[in-house]
Order: sequence, then structure tokens, then C-alpha cells
Amino acid sequence: MSLPFTYILKTHPRAKHMSIRISRTGVVSVTKPKKISIDLAEAFIVKKKDWIIEKLAYVKTLPQPVPKMTRAEYVQLKERAYEIVEKRVKHFNQFYNFSYKNISIKNQKTRWGSCSSQKNLNFNCKIALLDEELVDYIVVHELCHLGQMNHSSKFWSLVAQTIPEYKKHHVALRKKGLGLS
Ligand SMILES: [Zn+2]
Repeated sequence: MSLPFTYILKTHPRAKHMSIRISRTGVVSVTKPKKISIDLAEAFIVKKKDWIIEKLAYVKTLPQPVPKMTRAEYVQLKERAYEIVEKRVKHFNQFYNFSYKNISIKNQKTRWGSCSSQKNLNFNCKIALLDEELVDYIVVHELCHLGQMNHSSKFWSLVAQTIPEYKKHHVALRKKGLGLS
């Protein structure tokens, strides 16, 4: 029987049962115990095919890991991010009037932005790939930490003064796989 997906079949000496793993990128790996024949393993996969197809459709809807950037791409992205962020920080700080030291762009793995207790604002270089309204929310979020170094209701009301729809943007950013601090 032909299946609408390919899979990797592995034998594990200590496996007690058949198991199927589907990675975030859609790779199907099946592990069988030593005592189970390949024929039996294949019959098992056929039996589970609807479940696998369903899972594959699901992982397709997840944010996919970004392929590694080359050095040149990173430098270019970093420059663009800095240009965008600096402009927006200045724009929103006409309203807030906080004092800050430096704006830096980093290749952070887990965060869109952060604000240090030394009043430095850090942003992820991938901010350059986001929609303007999301960039504005990240900028305002970090800027407001200069006034409130926490996520208290006071902090959120500061954010809401310029980004009333901040909740929607916060959720959208989480869906893209990175958080804010
Ligand atoms: Zn925060």
C-alpha cells in the first residue's frame, strides 16, 4: 500500500512498543522493537495512517524554524532593524520622554526585545521582518519598562496610552514563537 507520506523506520533494541514521532518540520520517524518484523511494522504504520496525516496537517500550521542566516544576511538585517527601531523609539519617546542609554540589535533566540536595568534597549534583528504594528508594540513595550521595570497594571496602562490594542499584538507575537521581557 502506498502512503501519502514518507517515514524513517528505526529499530531500537530497548523499545517495548512501536512508536511514531512527528517533528515540527514534518519528519515522520517510526521506532520498532527488535522482535517486530518490518512487515508488521509497516502494517502498523498503515493502520495509523489517518492519525499521521492529521498530525502532519497540524504541524504545517505551526511556525516553522527559521533557516540559519549567512553572516552577510545577518549584518544586513541588523542594520535594517536598527534603522526601523531607532526611528520608532524616537517617535514614541516624544510621548513618554524616558531616558535610555543605548539601542542594540542582537540575534536573540528567545526574545523580541528586552530592557536592562542599566536602561539599555535590546531588540531582535528579526524585528525587521515583522509588520509595522508589531514593531511598534515591541518598541513601546520595552520603552515602558524604562518607566516600570515589571509587568504590573501600571506598566500595561503605560503601554495602552500609545498602543490601545496591545493585547492583540502580544498574542500575535507569541504565535510567532518568541516572547518579550
Ligand atoms: Zn516586558
